Amino acid sequence: AKARTDQVCFYDSLLGLKIRERAYLARRLEAALVKGEGLELRFQPQVCLATDQLCGAEVLLRWFDAELGWVSPNQFIPLAEERGLIYMVTRKVLQMAGHQRRIWQEKGFIVPGRIQIKLAVNVSARDLDDSRFANDLLLLLEEEGVSPSDFELELTETGLMRDPEEAINMLHYLKEKGFALAIDDFGTGHSSLNYLKDIDADLLKIDMSFVRNLDCDQANRAIVQTIIATAHIFGMKTLAEGIENKAIVNELKRIGCDYGQGYCFAHPLTANEFEQRWLSSQAA
Ligand code: C2E
Ligand code: CA
Ligand code: CA
Ligand code: CA
Repeated sequence: AKARTDQVCFYDSLLGLKIRERAYLARRLEAALVKGEGLELRFQPQVCLATDQLCGAEVLLRWFDAELGWVSPNQFIPLAEERGLIYMVTRKVLQMAGHQRRIWQEKGFIVPGRIQIKLAVNVSARDLDDSRFANDLLLLLEEEGVSPSDFELELTETGLMRDPEEAINMLHYLKEKGFALAIDDFGTGHSSLNYLKDIDADLLKIDMSFVRNLDCDQANRAIVQTIIATAHIFGMKTLAEGIENKAIVNELKRIGCDYGQGYCFAHPLTANEFEQRWLSSQAA
C-alpha cells in the first residue's frame, strides 16, 4: 500500500513539474520571438529525382535557449500551438527565410525566374484561423523584397480539418498571390481525400513513415504507389521525405515519385552550408 501511495505522489509531482516546465518553456520561447534571439533556420535540400538537380529547400526552425540549450522543434512547435504563439513563430520564420532569400538573390546564387528554387515554410493549422494571416505574409515578403512565388507553404493535412471552409478560402487566396502549396505528412492524418480536390495543392509530401523501408516493405510500397498515382490524377507533384539511402531513391525513381528529401541527400543545413554545398554549385 505504501508503494502505491509513493507512486501516486511521484506522478503528481511529475505532472506538476511538467506543467511548470511547459509554462517556463513558453515564456522563454515568447521572449526569444520578441527579441529575435536564439532562433536560427536550417535548410534541407529538396531534389528532383529525375535530374538529381536541387529544386528547393525546406526551412526548419532551430531554437537555442541560454538556460535550456537546444530545444527540439518536436517540443516547442506543439507548445507554441498550444500557447497561441505559433502565429509569431510562422511570421518569424517566413521573415527570416525572406531575408535569407534576398541575400542569396543579391549574391547571385538564386536568379529569380531562372533556376526555380523554392523555399518551403511550414504553416500550422492554427495560422489559418487568423483572418490577417494571408495579408501579413504578403506584407512581410514585400518588406524583405522577395516574391511569394519563390515560396511554398507546407500544411499538415490534419490542420486542414479544423475549419475547412475558411482555411480553403485563405489557401485559394494565398495561391492566387503566388505561393505554392504543399500538403505535408500526407497519409498520416484523418480521411483527407475530399480535401485534395478542394485545396488545389501543387505538391503532396509523402510522410517518411511510408518511405522508410520502401525497398523491402511491400505494404509501404503499395501505399506510396497509390499516393503518387492519386496525386498525379489531381495534377499534383509528389515529394518523398525521410529518404535515408540510395536503394530507396532508386525505388522511388522506379515508381515515378517526382522529388525527394532526406539524410541521403543532406541533413538540414545552416544557411552557409546550404550556400556553399548546394547553391554555389547550382549557379556555376
Ligand atoms: P516536418 O515538417 O515533417 O519536417 C521534417 C522533419 O524530418 C525535420 O525534423 C527533419 O530534420 C527530419 N528529417 C529530414 N530528413 C530526414 C531523414 O532522412 N530521416 C529522418 N529520420 N528524419 C529526417 P525537425 O527539423 O526536427 O522538425 C520536426 C518537426 O517540427 C517538423 O516536421 C515540423 O512539423 C516542425 N517544425 C520544424 N520547423 C518548423 C517551423 O518553422 N514551423 C512549424 N510550424 N513547424 C516546424
Ligand atoms: Ca514540413
Ligand atoms: Ca513532413
Ligand atoms: Ca511532421
